[in-house]
Amino acid sequence: MPGATDTKPTKPLKNPCNLCQSVRAILKRPKTGQQLCKECFFHVFETEIHNTIVDNKLFNKGDRVAIGASGGKDSTVLAYVMKLLNDRYSYGLDLILLSIDEGITGYRDDSLETVKRNRDQYQIPLLIVSYKDLYGWSMDDIVKEIGRKNNCTFCGVFRRQALDRGAIMLNVDHIVTGHNADDIAETVLMNILRGDLPRLQRCTSIITNDTSEDSSGIETSKILRSKPFKYTYEKEIVMYAYFKKLDYFSTECIYSPNAYRGHARVFLKDLEAVRRTAIVDIIHSGEALSASVQANESTKLPTMANCTRCGYISSNELCKACLLLEGLNKGLPQLGIGHTTKIRRMHEAANLASGLSSPVSLSSAVADGSAEEKVKVVTHIKDLGQLETMPTLDSV
Ligand code: SF4
Ligand code: ZN
Repeated sequence: MPGATDTKPTKPLKNPCNLCQSVRAILKRPKTGQQLCKECFFHVFETEIHNTIVDNKLFNKGDRVAIGASGGKDSTVLAYVMKLLNDRYSYGLDLILLSIDEGITGYRDDSLETVKRNRDQYQIPLLIVSYKDLYGWSMDDIVKEIGRKNNCTFCGVFRRQALDRGAIMLNVDHIVTGHNADDIAETVLMNILRGDLPRLQRCTSIITNDTSEDSSGIETSKILRSKPFKYTYEKEIVMYAYFKKLDYFSTECIYSPNAYRGHARVFLKDLEAVRRTAIVDIIHSGEALSASVQANESTKLPTMANCTRCGYISSNELCKACLLLEGLNKGLPQLGIGHTTKIRRMHEAANLASGLSSPVSLSSAVADGSAEEKVKVVTHIKDLGQLETMPTLDSV
């Protein structure tokens, strides 16, 4: 018969990848619902991050960039992807891993082992700076002294400054952190629930580079900080780490209070379950709200100076870390936490007792409730559990 061949007609592929059409889809993208094969998922995941970096002009050629590395899934994927994109697109960045050792036995010591393995796997140099070396107190010491309340306030203030100090030691221009879209949407929700507009403004910025302290007492530094995962969904980071078989550490901090942020997280996950764009929608709402905050005169930033004790940038005589340390060292750990008037009274009493003549200006030493680090409620088991509930080969 003319035109007839011996070749059997190929069966149409069941569940082809929406992009390449030539391979079976093995996953459904949480962000878009697209059914993709593994390679196409890697491609869209990496390309979106590259586009975020380029669209927001995060780096200049030749920048020395520290990657804030905790050994968790976000920063491990960040280190891997930053290296990959730096090579693929010739960003010309000099990458370094920067880890903070808070001194939390049974948590950070184990996660730092993961970072050391990542250093060897990705061939990126690593610097670890510890609270004990910088402040004379580890988080274990602090929790022994103050208990499990407000520990994250100390930890958050110290970490922010420790990252800057590490960055100065490394002579870097820029620090990137693994905050993902879910973290940012949670923070937007928390700041809206607290009515904290200055923090709302800050948490939605992809890059921060101001040298000032805002009215809520947030200290900032001259070193740029950015979040290349601002629009990257946590579930996709977990999927990426899983399919790439990346080596990461997944345990919750033993001192994690898991209170307010935990509720915001559960609420966000419920919203995401009914509408997958909820995360990005909340980020966009936060951006729109912060744009109007920026236009508001009342949020103008105070004049900046340097901490008279340690030299860190501060609008007060003492920076917040020095204030917290003073409290710890004087056996008054509440100093720097809680209401301003109460703090002022405690501080004056402490100064009287120690013979200091001029009490420190404490106008910005308000409670720093959101200094707590993102609470890692998703453990390794739960991470994988997330994947198991995702539609895969058999259910797409
Ligand atoms: Fe520090 Fe985070 Fe642990 Fe709180 S939960 S003590 S901020 S590492
Ligand atoms: Zn200081």
